[in-house]
Amino acid sequence: PVIPQPEDRQVESVCPYCGVGCATEYTVRDNSIVLCDGRESPVNHERLCVKGRYGWDYTMHPQRLTTPLIRRDDAYPKGPLSGDVVGTSSRKRRKPGGIVDYDEVLPAFREATWEEALDLVAERLTGIRSEHGSSALAGFGSAKCSNEEAYLFQKLLRAGLGTNNVDHCTRLCHASSVAALMETIGSGAVTNVFADVANADVCLVTGSNTTANHPVAATFIKEAVRNGTKLLCVDPRGHTLTDFASHFAQIRSGSDVAFYNAVMHVLIAEGLIDEQFVAERTEGFDELKKLVLRDFAPEQASSICGIEPDELRAIARTIGQPLEDGRRPRMLVFWGMGISQHTHGTDNARCLISLCLLTGNVGKPGTGLHPLRGQNNVQGASDAGLIPMVYPDYQPVSDPEIRAKFERAWGVELDPEPGLTVVEIVKGALGKSIRGMYILGENPFLSDPNINKVRAALSSLDFLVVQDIFLAETAEFADVILPASSYFEKDGTFTNTDRRVQVGRKVLDSPGEARQDWQVICDIARRIGLPMEYASSAEVFDEFAALTGHYRGLTHENLGSTGKLWPCPDPEHEDGVQILFGDRFPTASGRGKLVPCPYLPADELPDEEYPLILNTGRVLEHWHTGSMTRRSRALDAIQPNAFVAIHPDDLTRLGIVDGTRVQVSSRRGTIELEARADRTVEIGTVFIPFHFREAAANVLTTDALDPFGKIPEFKFCAVRVEAAAES
Ligand code: SF4
Repeated sequence: PVIPQPEDRQVESVCPYCGVGCATEYTVRDNSIVLCDGRESPVNHERLCVKGRYGWDYTMHPQRLTTPLIRRDDAYPKGPLSGDVVGTSSRKRRKPGGIVDYDEVLPAFREATWEEALDLVAERLTGIRSEHGSSALAGFGSAKCSNEEAYLFQKLLRAGLGTNNVDHCTRLCHASSVAALMETIGSGAVTNVFADVANADVCLVTGSNTTANHPVAATFIKEAVRNGTKLLCVDPRGHTLTDFASHFAQIRSGSDVAFYNAVMHVLIAEGLIDEQFVAERTEGFDELKKLVLRDFAPEQASSICGIEPDELRAIARTIGQPLEDGRRPRMLVFWGMGISQHTHGTDNARCLISLCLLTGNVGKPGTGLHPLRGQNNVQGASDAGLIPMVYPDYQPVSDPEIRAKFERAWGVELDPEPGLTVVEIVKGALGKSIRGMYILGENPFLSDPNINKVRAALSSLDFLVVQDIFLAETAEFADVILPASSYFEKDGTFTNTDRRVQVGRKVLDSPGEARQDWQVICDIARRIGLPMEYASSAEVFDEFAALTGHYRGLTHENLGSTGKLWPCPDPEHEDGVQILFGDRFPTASGRGKLVPCPYLPADELPDEEYPLILNTGRVLEHWHTGSMTRRSRALDAIQPNAFVAIHPDDLTRLGIVDGTRVQVSSRRGTIELEARADRTVEIGTVFIPFHFREAAANVLTTDALDPFGKIPEFKFCAVRVEAAAES
């Protein structure tokens, strides 16, 4: 136990992990965090999950980068495992815990001064621009960046380097959801906050293991169920919330469109839709009705999604049948990566939107569309313009009037062409159309699909600068590495899944020569001829907010200790606007669009050679590529190893014993890890968390993209599992 000392100080901030954005209070002693507690806030009511409560010690890890590093010379090939397939051979080359072996990697670099490193970055990036044009440059920002850092990073790429090739991991999580939301209701934001589930009669959770990925939000759902809300869970994999559900539809992987079209079929056929809402607030009903009535009767859809026709009808009636008091049920819909990370992810989201529009479940208390945002600032980084086709606040780069507005604000001429997305940039690097990259806080070598291809792409860049707090896997490909400040070492704003903008406050001083990220971006900008001078991150925020409609009423000062929601049109507004679109949608017609979606199968289906379906995702204790949580003692102790979860019946059929090592192979590579029997996994599928370098799930995944959101199909590819050879 931590005994409070008189010299301890307390700092109010926000959790650095997931999009729930829990309010925290850190107890600090001698520039070290010794304790974290939850604070009272509308977001978490003092609650924290295991990551928030115990996962802060990574910031004090001895492997923190403290000095700029420059690659020595070509004697050291770029990347950690040239010639190897990550996953099989890396097991021998990693220290316990699977994180980077610094002794192995560091000799490829030498320490440098900030002046030398920044000069080199500016010289090489401008050199590539002169020789190959601005379109040969690209940048990945991060959903771990603050709004201020994200705004400056995209400004540097656009106004300083002349390219819209700037993206971040939103492309890997909710790009398809945003594409569908923008198309249908004219805004990519959630329409209501998650805590309003307390006012819902029905809560639909689909494609989301909420207890693992948004744990504190899941407590609000459980509370609502205890108070009478009916919970519907739709997922190919069971999880803790399904124990609370009145219906759990364990659909076949990738069959969401068939399932939801069948539910809409029943709603329409049985007269359970909100006809007034459909008539007054939507368009496209006739086309949708025609498709779902013709092709998706429960008996037809059942053969695709695996749910019995009567169960499909029961679920539709729970959503649409009037309650005892005659009211229509109010429904709030939550979805996660299980919906979005498919080649038909946009179709999946379109179906959920249609379901809400048909039943009038938008714009009122207890209703709404809520794609649960993954990282702590994936909403804000997108709001701030870390997206290749839009400036801050989703203003299209292709619109001449909007472009002129940003040209006036930034004092330069801007590229009218939308830029490339994450996977397109990687493909561009492979084909040498992208030659130089600036990566700030992202780790595509573990997070992107088909990472042997990513490795080839990163290795073939003429120049790569990585700014990070650790020598994460991607940094091993860098020419220059810049030591950044961790979440706890700076002030900045972060926007949670509810659209709540909160101030993360500086808790600790940075180690060694590590610098604040926003200042490093400004240092590079000045060197390439773009003056960026700000006295503080609050001043950066003011510039960003003034260029938007939704953040306009917000300042660091008026956000207080628990933040405010955007839109906040008036600085005096108490908490921003909670429920959006009560009267009209921000579309050209003011109506929501119903988009009919035929069922399409996944890009790569199982066959004789690769008979199982791979599903990837996260576990409660770890976060994305593990660079933070695998350096947190408590979290790594609870979940130290990579594993593949397989249904016991499949294990028996394959002759594999629970707990033994297996090889999992796809057409793109092989990894080796422990097999775990797990009844929540659908028979015929396997689940692998993607946090573990030594058994990197993304060796196996496909880089096939959804055509609208350009999101890869992380949730579906064909694999084979076999016992590993004895070592
Ligand atoms: Fe942090 Fe999310 Fe856990 Fe809250 S639920 S403590 S924001 S990881």
